Amino acid sequence: MEKKEYGLNDIVEMKKGHPCGANAWKIIRMGADIRIKCEGCQHSVMLPRVEFNKKIKKILVKAEAAE
Ligand SMILES: [Zn+2]
Repeated sequence: MEKKEYGLNDIVEMKKGHPCGANAWKIIRMGADIRIKCEGCQHSVMLPRVEFNKKIKKILVKAEAAE
């Protein structure tokens, strides 16, 4: 499997969408845990990084790298 190069403020698609019908999540916090926010309903969830790595499907929108 290819390496997932995700970062803060990227919009990602998960293997399983949110019950609200959306499947686009913005990464709002990076760390040992990763917090993502549903773009459909603004609900946010926190996942351990290892779990996030298993559940991410792809990056939809890459945030512009500032540096
Ligand atoms: Zn939602």
